[in-house]
Amino acid sequence: MERSTASARGRAGFGGFPEEQERRLTVRVRFAPSPTGFLHVGGARTALFNWLYARRAGGTFLLRVEDTDRARSRPEHTRAILEGLAWLGLDVDEGPVFQADGVERHRRDALALLGQGAAYRCFCTAEELAARREEAQRAGSGYGYDGRCRRLDPVVSRARADAGEPFALRVRVPEEAIEWEDMIHGPMSFPAGSIDDFIILRSDGTPVYNLAVVSDDAEAGITHVIRGDDHLSNTPKQILLYRALGRPLPGFGHVPLILGPDGKRLSKRHGALSVLAYRDGGYLPAGMVNFLALLGWSPGDDREVFDVGALVEAFSIGRVLKKSAVFDLEKLGWLNGRHIADAPAADLAVAVVEILGREAREEGGELAGSHPGLETSPERLARIIALVKGRPRTLPALARQVSPFFAASVRYDEAAVKRFWKRPEETAFHLRRLAERLAGEAAFRDVETLESEVRGLAAELDVGAGRIINPLRVALMGQGVSPGIFEVLEAMGRERALARIGAAVRFLEARLPTA
Ligand code: GLU
Repeated sequence: MERSTASARGRAGFGGFPEEQERRLTVRVRFAPSPTGFLHVGGARTALFNWLYARRAGGTFLLRVEDTDRARSRPEHTRAILEGLAWLGLDVDEGPVFQADGVERHRRDALALLGQGAAYRCFCTAEELAARREEAQRAGSGYGYDGRCRRLDPVVSRARADAGEPFALRVRVPEEAIEWEDMIHGPMSFPAGSIDDFIILRSDGTPVYNLAVVSDDAEAGITHVIRGDDHLSNTPKQILLYRALGRPLPGFGHVPLILGPDGKRLSKRHGALSVLAYRDGGYLPAGMVNFLALLGWSPGDDREVFDVGALVEAFSIGRVLKKSAVFDLEKLGWLNGRHIADAPAADLAVAVVEILGREAREEGGELAGSHPGLETSPERLARIIALVKGRPRTLPALARQVSPFFAASVRYDEAAVKRFWKRPEETAFHLRRLAERLAGEAAFRDVETLESEVRGLAAELDVGAGRIINPLRVALMGQGVSPGIFEVLEAMGRERALARIGAAVRFLEARLPTA
């Protein structure tokens, strides 16, 4: 025991010991999801921290699917988890391996512990255990296994087993504190007596979770176990199993919970979905990865926007915060917007074509009809994307900004009409005057000329420039937001811009009461 405790301490140290440096070259971490649901935000963050840790150290990232719960595990969940990891770009170096494939080894390990006396047969039946638990509850005392079978004479124990009596295997938990240096929480200690003799093999021969995990992690040579805080209470049991099996102890790091903005445990209510739902909602993997990384980790300075390479550079498990992280959709939107702004126009063009194409088909048409030229003028599309991409937070929002530059007809956003076209007569008049000013080729010479024409008209009419610009934006874009209006005018081109202004005038005039 002494020796393993000492080696546990040595291994868990993160100072610059030569031993530590050597291990950095051979880091092996794993993500071990249970395929009982999709890859949600919490799981994706655990996967990301493991992946970053591996990439930073030049190590290996394994995927193990913990599918021993046959009733709840589903192949479609495994597929969705793989798809989620692939979408995030978390490439797996080894695996997926399936925990259920290791059942024979798990059993062998459990029996080895029996053979060496670190575990014993427990013949207590489920009914007996339930009755004792109830009794303890009535007496108001905490219930733990009372160690009754621990004291059985080994000869008797074997004889009962040979006679066919069913038994489970329990670990003989030593009377001592279990301590480790957590990579995130620092020194952790479970006092002597706080852990019961726990079961590792059920009477039906199925291995228990903690045994399967240790057996698999040891077999795979995992050097660091990085997982959610919800596993903190499993760790002392697993440490005991490593020691009993005589396998080297990995480092352990427990990542704090993610909470909703209301301080409650994160759930769907807070908008926490499968990561694939974010893909479908038009978030970029780079934005999602950036967001997940900041759920509980910070670089220690005020940087927030990271591409994945910069994350690998900056990541350190020691900088993962001990306190819970707060899930903030607003922050995700903002970060995603920064990544859209940084993305190459050509990549974004693919998404825009896809989104607008899908919308056109949903309306029974096709992209060439709803947005003539969008697919056939990639350079113009790239220029327009470059113009608008600074503002939208999702890909559909980007598509909405690109759409008016190509659309066969603009649709006016109701809120924008209400807000900026509330004086139809005046606005129609202003827009008519503007169309006259912009009619000549010369006005469209460049952005500056367009600006001086629009401002010149405002001066001439003696109104603030906003009284022209805001209604003009609705006329051109159908919406109340856009990049700088003069850039929009230029990018749209004379012919289309004049046609849009004309259509707006007609729309507004149709709304005027007839005399
Ligand atoms: N399968 C466990 C889970 O999904 C993870 C086990 C571990 O990381 O040790 O919570």
